[in-house]
Amino acid sequence: MELPYTEPLTVREAGPRIVPEPPRRGEPGGEPCGLCSGGATKAVWGNEHFTLHPPVGGSMPGHVWLASREHVDSFCDLSPEAAQAFGPLVARIERAILAEGDVGRVHVSRWGDGGAHFHVWFMPRPLGMLEAKNFMLPLWEDVLPNVSDEELREAAERIAARL
Ligand SMILES: [Zn+2]
Repeated sequence: MELPYTEPLTVREAGPRIVPEPPRRGEPGGEPCGLCSGGATKAVWGNEHFTLHPPVGGSMPGHVWLASREHVDSFCDLSPEAAQAFGPLVARIERAILAEGDVGRVHVSRWGDGGAHFHVWFMPRPLGMLEAKNFMLPLWEDVLPNVSDEELREAAERIAARL
């Protein structure tokens, strides 16, 4: 596990806390919700509870994100039906990403700091890319050269076809 940067890096001090935090997209006082206003990338798959989307401006084909159809914030806000459907669907998405081949592991992340509409990221760690293990994968994803959005969408469509 290695940082995608060369030494020397220095640890900086955390800034002062900002409370209350500024509103996120989709919160009162914030920008409109991208998903609810139709501004998000077009879904490649959906069922009654969730939709699956490719990222834009990414470096790792097979990277996808899953969003709830209902505008809710987090796991604890999902309807009981959507919450119940989530686990089995995550397993299906993981299997569909692994079937792309050349994937060592699928990392699943829920951040939620940008938008207040429930969404979870699935990121394929390239097989053998051991420096990108654990929390290094999003850093590597950020610094590696982007592939085309078309390539990201095509990979997402292959994954969707396996669901
Ligand atoms: Zn929304």
